[in-house]
Amino acid sequence: MGGEWAPAGNGGTFAVNNPATGESLGTVPDMTAADARQAIAAAEAAFPEWSAMPARKRSQLLRKWFDLIQQHADDLAALLTGEQGKPHAEAKGEVLGGAAYVEWFAEEAKRIEGDVLSPQTSSQREVILKQPVGVVGAITPWNFPSSMITRKVSPALAAGCPVVIKPAEDTPLSALALAELAHRAGIPAGVVNVVTASHGADVGKELSTNPTVRKLSFTGSTAVGKLLMSQASDTVKKVSLELGGNAPFLVFDDADLDGAVKAATMMKFINTGQTCICVNRLMVHENVYDAFMERFTAAVDYLNVGNGAEKGVTTGPLINDKGLEKVESLVSDAVAKGAKAVRGGKRHDLGGTFYEPTVLTDVKPEMACFGNEIFGPVAPVYKFSSEDEAVRLANDTPYGLAAYFFTKDAGRMWRVGEALEYGMVACNTARFVHEAMPFGGFKESGIGREGSKYGIEEYLETKFLCMGGL
Ligand code: ADP
Repeated sequence: MGGEWAPAGNGGTFAVNNPATGESLGTVPDMTAADARQAIAAAEAAFPEWSAMPARKRSQLLRKWFDLIQQHADDLAALLTGEQGKPHAEAKGEVLGGAAYVEWFAEEAKRIEGDVLSPQTSSQREVILKQPVGVVGAITPWNFPSSMITRKVSPALAAGCPVVIKPAEDTPLSALALAELAHRAGIPAGVVNVVTASHGADVGKELSTNPTVRKLSFTGSTAVGKLLMSQASDTVKKVSLELGGNAPFLVFDDADLDGAVKAATMMKFINTGQTCICVNRLMVHENVYDAFMERFTAAVDYLNVGNGAEKGVTTGPLINDKGLEKVESLVSDAVAKGAKAVRGGKRHDLGGTFYEPTVLTDVKPEMACFGNEIFGPVAPVYKFSSEDEAVRLANDTPYGLAAYFFTKDAGRMWRVGEALEYGMVACNTARFVHEAMPFGGFKESGIGREGSKYGIEEYLETKFLCMGGL
């Protein structure tokens, strides 16, 4: 806070544990709303200098931050695996992918441009300015402890806004490490502040109600996103929300099945199923169902569950007991209603929060796993018989984040691509996240876009300035 390491005002701390081993990695301050107010004041104090700094200089500082994240990528990845559990290679991918946002927005910082209108009268000239919105509150989740921070903080900083970050309680260490690197890069005191807390609600309420905070950017569950949006309404803050998903993955009968199996396996089990764009529902055409399932279950058999710090591990533990219990309850609901676990279906022998990679067949739309975000290594598979049915079911959800489909028919590519009510649709691939694309959802999956040329708009106000009496 304000460029200093500070304890919580009340001296409280909480432990950060390794989900693979249960070991404590250390403790961090357990901050409250009072600490958050201090951080907001530090950000407010930093705003005039930071926003007035020439864009090129802000860009250079962001570029230095990017270089330092890259230089320390191995250490940051080790820290991330330690607190979050994902395999080291995935963690390093996240750190570097997260750094790419910093590089991108270092460049965008130089291209914040307004407009000059054609004169409406001879005595008047009018311009449109883009100005930083002010102090930003950023609340981030534990599933991407590094890249969710850079994806919010770098456009905010590029726009000229200071930030107060509240990282998830399970994974505050990556946030603190990134803040330390921002400090070493020369980003001034008070521009990047981190408030760690064991319970999000208290600090979250301050960030969403304090009038000095002009913009709130949140990634997390839909329930908390709705709460924050209503709390932020009192002071009419700008909000960006990146919330839950219920991603369908449609396999049509003309699909490249090997490609579909590879993509489905990757996008279902990456991060142990704990991403908002993870495949939540596999929907396979009846003509290719058997062939697909044979290859898909074979691919699932190759997954290697264990401590993400060990070589060869593809699938780490779930983040905590709450996550494990949710997965268990969704699987038992499905099995009670007639689904079959053809792979997995229970806790893993490794104990702790490890869960077996699971494939459920005979899934019906009324099962809870079809309508709720699973956030675990469970693949429910539904057999469909027509394009209309598949698209209708895919859209029959309040969520609208990511959707996937596999087909070789060029007409269907456009038809289905346009019909899916999702912010991000991937055809014949499941790899699409990078800094140049606009990440975000339709419906209850969120508001606003992160990354890309659109991402910086979330941190800018549009001002109309009119000069009369010329
Ligand atoms: P998940 O259920 O996946 O943990 P959450 O939405 O609970 O997702 O968590 C995402 C982020 O929101 C975390 O930083 C968490 O601490 C924070 N959070 C949780 N509850 C609240 C709340 N009531 N107000 C503000 N932030 C919250």
